[in-house]
Amino acid sequence: MGKRGNSIIKGLEISEIITMLNKAYADEWLAYYQYFIESKIIKGIMKDAAIVELTQHAADELRHATMVADRIIQLGGTPLTHPQAWFTHANCAYEEPKDFDVVAILNDAIKGEQCAISVYSKLADMTKDKDIITYNMVSSILADEVEHEEDLQALHDDIADFITDLKKCVQ
Ligand code: MG
Ligand code: FE
Ligand code: FE
Repeated sequence: MGKRGNSIIKGLEISEIITMLNKAYADEWLAYYQYFIESKIIKGIMKDAAIVELTQHAADELRHATMVADRIIQLGGTPLTHPQAWFTHANCAYEEPKDFDVVAILNDAIKGEQCAISVYSKLADMTKDKDIITYNMVSSILADEVEHEEDLQALHDDIADFITDLKKCVQ
C-alpha cells in the first residue's frame, strides 16, 4: 500500500471503500459467469446476435473484476479470496437462467445491468471529490454498464419487433 497515494483520500474511510469495492468485485464475477453461461445455453431466434453481445459483455465484466481487484490491493485491502463469498457480498442477485429463450435471457441480463448501474452510480457519488482514483475507475465502469444495458435493450427490442412482424406475415 503506497502511503502518499492513499494520503490523498479525504473524508472517506479507506476500509469503507475497500468494503464497497469488494461487494462490486463479487458482482462482477457473478455477472461474468452469468454472461458466460448464458452465451452457451441460449436458444431461439436471432441467438447468434445475442451470443456476440453476451460474449463481449462477459469479457468486459472480467476486465471490471480485474480493475476492481487491483484498486482494492492498491488501497491495502484483499479482494475476496473464495467464490462462496461472491454470494454473501454481492449487491446484485445472480439471475440463474431458467428459461433459455433469447428474450428471457436478455431480460435477465438487462436486470443485472440495471443493478450494476445503481451500484456504480452510488460508488461514484460516494467517492466524488474524495478519492479521485476510485472515482475515475467507477465512472469508467459505470459508462460500460450503461452501454451494456443499452446494447441489450436495443437487441431485445429488435427481436421483439421481428417477432411481431413475423406473426403478421404468418397470419
Ligand atoms: Mg455490448
Ligand atoms: Fe461490470
Ligand atoms: Fe455490465
